[in-house]
Formats: sequence, structure tokens, C-alpha cells
Amino acid sequence: MMTTTTMKRKAASYLFRYSRNFHSDQRLNLNHNNSRLLSGTFLCCKTPIIRDSTPISQYCRDAYHASAINHFRMASGFQFRRFASLSSVVQRNPSFSRLNSDDIDFFRSILGEKNVIQDEDRLLDANTDWLRKYRGSSKLLLQPRSTEEVSQILKYCNSRDLPVVPQGGNTGLVGGSVPVFDEVIINLGLMNDIISFDKVSGILVCEAGGILENLSSFLDNQGFIMPLDLGAKGSCQIGGNVSTNAGGLRLVRYGSLHGSVLGLEVVLADGSVLDMLTTLRKDNTGYDLKHLFIGSEGTLGIITKISILTPSKLPATNVAFLGCKDYSSCQKLLVDAKRKLGEILSAFEFLDNMSMDVVLNHLEGTRNPLPSTMHNFYVLIETTGSNDSYDKEKLEAFLLRSMEDGLISDGVLAQDINQISSFWQIREGISEALMKAGAVYKYDLSLPVEKMYDIVEAMRTRLGNSAIVIGYGHLGDGNLHLNISTPQYDDAVLAQIEPFVYEWTSNHRGSISAEHGLGLMKANKIFYSKSPEIVQIMASIKKLLDPRAILNPYKVLPHSLRS
Ligand SMILES: Cc1cc2nc3c(=O)[nH]c(=O)nc-3n(C[C@H](O)[C@H](O)[C@H](O)COP(=O)(O)OP(=O)(O)OC[C@H]3O[C@@H](n4cnc5c(N)ncnc54)[C@H](O)[C@@H]3O)c2cc1C
Repeated sequence: MMTTTTMKRKAASYLFRYSRNFHSDQRLNLNHNNSRLLSGTFLCCKTPIIRDSTPISQYCRDAYHASAINHFRMASGFQFRRFASLSSVVQRNPSFSRLNSDDIDFFRSILGEKNVIQDEDRLLDANTDWLRKYRGSSKLLLQPRSTEEVSQILKYCNSRDLPVVPQGGNTGLVGGSVPVFDEVIINLGLMNDIISFDKVSGILVCEAGGILENLSSFLDNQGFIMPLDLGAKGSCQIGGNVSTNAGGLRLVRYGSLHGSVLGLEVVLADGSVLDMLTTLRKDNTGYDLKHLFIGSEGTLGIITKISILTPSKLPATNVAFLGCKDYSSCQKLLVDAKRKLGEILSAFEFLDNMSMDVVLNHLEGTRNPLPSTMHNFYVLIETTGSNDSYDKEKLEAFLLRSMEDGLISDGVLAQDINQISSFWQIREGISEALMKAGAVYKYDLSLPVEKMYDIVEAMRTRLGNSAIVIGYGHLGDGNLHLNISTPQYDDAVLAQIEPFVYEWTSNHRGSISAEHGLGLMKANKIFYSKSPEIVQIMASIKKLLDPRAILNPYKVLPHSLRS
């Protein structure tokens, strides 16, 4: 019988024999201060700002005053696209009222002076989305501190036909979290209490405004983790995560929020409070209504409290960063990883060489962990388990076999937490790097894994030299992030991309939104992924729960169905 030590020795000799390049990366830059995008930097921001030393309000103010043209290239390298062209497509619902001074007085009477915000700078932040692509013109930002206050706000707005936008960390990527016109913004950021945590079951009950990273830190101290993790964790709120049914980096291991969210408290448009805040694993008493609100993007109700099942924190995390020669190798690697790493596999992410290029060129402090040569594809594999030496051996054996099989061309295994962070920084930094590179057209597609990369190649052929087309994402979940980068926004480029991207996805029975939602960007595109019958039922549910359509208008459902 082979002892652990002999197996280790054997693995080490394979390591040497089969790849001189397969090394422990001791040379990496250990600076990981900004290793997790949006992480930590703005933990305490009430109005979420992004992550630069210059506040977004400054960019936007400058942009506003710059000129009447539609496209701006900002001094910082970020671009802001004026929203004007969209308002010509979407019409303000004429049945909505306009805000008046009596309304402001009412809100002050329930929230107090300081949580009724009319300050221009703060409104500019709250009106502008993360991509700087959508901007509303709301004149009012409300910051409730309790469910009761949310209920009073909605009851009042409903009676007055005042439209509202629920807002979390404002990191959404489909224009769902900002007003289209003058909707009242209701930001949940002050509702960030942890209500209870049960160490036996791992069930966390908290308010919706808790920032994901803060919740993760709290759980870390208790020996648990959040079942989801994403690049925006330092700003996004758990209420926003649930409302978008965010996927992220751990979905391959812990499944979607439809599985881990056990209960919700939701305030409906008329102010009534639905208490579904159960902490039960099993409850088959009729229709499970909470699922309607998970992923409804604030169009059916405002989520105020969440009960969520959290997994135990396991002591051993290993991360490998690998180079592959083609997409087919990445796919085969995924199949093998699922089979051979089994229960310890916790992330399987991929990026192409163009993505790597964008990160290296635009994100300070990053470097390719496999510097000797550029590979066509990169795969990041994370394992999490309870036994470090066992997990490491298992992972090493898998990597060596994959190398023998020709699926991996080169690779590095992180030796410590700093290297783990620097590997993740590359994958998580792609969105930020793209923003710095210029204009970006983002598509978030679910496709059969074997077809997933074909659309990247098809798009490259279509756009030629006019754009850089990159593909990366959650390969383990069949989720491609197709991003197209150009020096500046150009409607001619957009016309080349859409509707082609949606038609292609629909023809391959994919989804035009894997995890980001529909928001404003894709409200009118829903038919590419859902039949008219299904959309009609969605519209009926919307009408039932929000008959006056005040909740996040113009989002999710097609504008043609607006009552
Ligand atoms: C760098 C970066 C990386 C990202 N990575 C991922 C990823 O890996 N996976 C992924 O799925 N997404 C990702 N996203 C997108 C985004 O972070 C998620 O959609 C996130 O869940 C949004 O949370 P938020 O609090 O910022 O919500 P917001 O952006 O504020 O709102 C999103 C939507 O939810 C609604 N909403 C917010 N809070 C509530 C509430 N309490 N009740 C009802 N409705 C509400 C809003 O009206 C809006 O429609 C990323 C974004 C960035 C910028």
C-alpha cells in the first residue's frame, strides 16, 4: 500500500518529470491590497461609490457640464455614456405623479431630516449605475432604517402613484438599480443588522442592506462562509444579491440562492409586509412564494430581511492557475475536475488570452502567473476541503494527470493566501480593467458548455478590427461573460452586436441573462429566452402584487406589456 508520504514523493517526481513549468509560484508580486475588486475599500459608504480616489460624482458632474454630445471620454480613462438616447425609447408612464413639497414633508416626518436626501452630489451617485451607462434624474433618495419605515414609504408612494427604485449597493450591470426618470430611490444601506446566527444549523438571519463582504467577515469569525462570493462583494448588499439571484464564484459548489435562501421578509407595493422569514430547511405548505422575489430585481416587492443557509468554513483552500492551449481542453478539464476532484471542487473559472491582456494592461499590480508564454486560455481551479494534505495530494494528482493528457500546458499552484489572492485578482479584475480600457458592451449568457465559446469567435469574425472581443466566466456553470471593448461607445458597433448576440443565444437555447438579470438593458429582450405565455404570466403576477406598477418601472418586463 502506498503511504501518504510515498504518494507525495511520487507526485513530486511527476511534477518534475512532466512539467518543469508546473511550479509553485514563489515569485509572485505579493501586493494584494486590491486583490478583490470593490472589496473593503468602501465598506462604510452609505451611498455606494466605486473604487477610485476620484468619486464618481466628480466624473459625472464633469460629464454633465462638458457638452451636449452623447459620448464622453473621461480624464480618468473611464467613459460615461449619456442616458439621453434611452429616454427617447422609453416613455415615462403618464399615470405617475410628480414629487411635490408635501411628499418631502411626509417622508421627513417618518424618516427624519437626514435620511431624506436631496443633495445633488449624492443624488448623482445614486442616479448613476456602476457601468456609467445609465443615469436617471431622481430628485429624492430615501434611506429607511426599518421594515416599518419601508412599509410606510411604499404605502404612501402607492397611494400617490409615485414610482420607486429599490437600490442596494448599485453594482448591478443591467441598469436595474437606478431610476429611468424621476423615480424615488429607496436605498436599504442603513438596514444592515445581523438579526441572528445559529451555529448549529449555520442559518443567518439579517437585514437586506448588509454588505456581502461584511456578512462574510462576520461568518468567518463564526467558522462559516457565505454561500456566494462575487467581485462586487465590498459594495453589493445581500438584498441586492437576492433580488438579482446573483450567481458568482461559488455557485458550482453551493448552488444558486434559490437553494440557500430559506426565508424572506418582503414589503409589497401597498406597504403590506409578507413575513416568509422561516429558518426551516423543509416546509412544503403550499406555494413557496419567496422564490418569486429571488431574482425579481425589485419589481415585485422590497426585500427587507433574509434567512440564508451558510456552509461551514473548511480549513483547506488550494488554488491552481493553469494555461490551456484551446477551449476544448478547458471543457475536458472541467469534466475531469468534476469527476476527480468531486466534493472539494469549489470554483472553476476561465478566461481567454484577450481577457488576460486587458487585465495586464489596465489593472495595476497584476501580472501573469505563467509569464513564460501567453496561453490561449487560462483556468482557475479552487478546491476547498477539510484536510489540507489530502486535498493537496488530490489536486496535484489531478493536475499531473491532466498535464499528461495534454489538457494543461502549464500551471502554478498557490503556496499561500497572498498568491491565492493574486490569482483571483486576475479573474475578478476583468470587469474593472475593461472599464479602464474604454467603452464596454457586456453580455452575460448561459449556454451549453460545448457551444459557449463559439459565440466569442463568431463575434470576433463579425466585428473584425473594430473591437476587442473577450470571453471569460463561470465555466463550471455554463456562464459566459462576453465583453466587447472599443475605445468609445459607438452605435454602429452596437448595431453589429445586437440583436445578433440575442438571436445566437436563443437559437442555441441559451439564456440572455445567466446571472445579472434583465434590468432596463434587457427588459425588451425577454422573449429571446422566455415564451409569450410565460411572460404573460409574469405580467399577471406583477399586476397582482403591484397593481399600480410603482415598483422599479420599465425594468424586467417588456415595455409593450405595461398596463
Ligand atoms: C465587479 C463586479 C463583479 C460582479 N460579479 C458578479 C458575479 O460574479 N455574479 C453576479 O451574479 N453578479 C455580479 N455582478 C453584478 C452585481 O454585483 C450583482 O447583480 C449584485 O447582486 C447586485 O447587488 P447590489 O446590492 O449592488 O444591487 P443593486 O445593483 O443596487 O440592485 C440590483 C437590482 O436589485 C434590486 N434591489 C436591490 N436591493 C433590493 C432589495 N432590498 N429589495 C428589492 N430589490 C432590490 C434593484 O432594484 C435592482 O433591480 C458584479 C458586478 C460588478 C461591478
